[in-house]
Amino acid sequence: MSDVKGYAATSELSGLAPFSFQRRTPRADDVSIDILYCGVCHTDIHFAENDWGRTNYPVVPGHEIIGRVTAVGNDVNQFTVGELVGVGCMVDSCRSCPSCEQGLEQYCREGMTPTYNGEDRIDRLRTYGGYSERIVVSERFVVRVPDKLDPAAAAPILCAGITTYSPLKHFGVGKGHKVGVLGMGGLGHMGVKFARALGAEVTIFTRSEAKVAEAKKQGADHVIISTDPEQMAAATESFDFLLDTIPVHHDLNPYLSTLKVNGSHILVGMIEPIEPTVHSRNLIGKRRILTGSLIGGMPETQEVLDFCAEHDISCDIEMLDIHNINEAYERMKKGDVKYRFVIDMKSLKSA
Ligand SMILES: [Zn+2]
Ligand SMILES: [Zn+2]
Repeated sequence: MSDVKGYAATSELSGLAPFSFQRRTPRADDVSIDILYCGVCHTDIHFAENDWGRTNYPVVPGHEIIGRVTAVGNDVNQFTVGELVGVGCMVDSCRSCPSCEQGLEQYCREGMTPTYNGEDRIDRLRTYGGYSERIVVSERFVVRVPDKLDPAAAAPILCAGITTYSPLKHFGVGKGHKVGVLGMGGLGHMGVKFARALGAEVTIFTRSEAKVAEAKKQGADHVIISTDPEQMAAATESFDFLLDTIPVHHDLNPYLSTLKVNGSHILVGMIEPIEPTVHSRNLIGKRRILTGSLIGGMPETQEVLDFCAEHDISCDIEMLDIHNINEAYERMKKGDVKYRFVIDMKSLKSA
């Protein structure tokens, strides 16, 4: 075991504060990583504040981790000391169920082991995330960061990026398709970049006129104000896919009406239960599909990093010192960040 400094929440109301804990001694298949950058995801806030009622305190959040390999176990053959690598939302899974065998570890029958607020499958120790100096992860759950990518801006690709890339790839989005992106936060703005890079014509749905210029800047071909019934009616049966990144309850029915026959509405935000009720006629009447998607498997997480390098895609970020993390959370709750905070882990040394 080795001592590690990090930042943790110790109760629902504590906010985040310096915290010391231990990481395991690396196993034969483990990679030890010095963390350089960690993105700040809305899920981090939900766990720090126990919004979903399943936080085990203390919790060290962070699942958009970029760092440098400092040591590898004897059985590690994909990584060497000095390489720039990433760790995303999961650090293990059963590795033998049908999903794991297909590299879809996020859908593991036994449940993936999350990067934080989980329990290691071997030593049963708590998993702690990326708001920390170092992490030890089995090589199967580590990805390589291409040289062309800016390491800080690459961090959010490990959650916000893969979450939006995976469904677009799975459902075959490409040239000739019209894609609507709902929501323009960390996920939505990545979704726009990927859909465009895949060759689709992209429309952003936003509630406010004030966001139109920003939506265009992000590369949207068109913008629809979702609160304007006339604009929504004019969009009836015009989209092949909707990528829905809105993280709070919203009425899906007006959006479903904008899908063509056989169109798919893809949810990536946890909004359970879906309220208000979805009318079955909006699905049956046009053979539409309402579906969802969770992050992406390890092979696809490597693929999205390579795709970003090839297509010159990165996340728009604001750098953050870790001692400002509580203010950052407050700003995120107000939607006041374009589009992702990334913690510079150098600041942990002085914190
Ligand atoms: Zn996340
Ligand atoms: Zn499995």
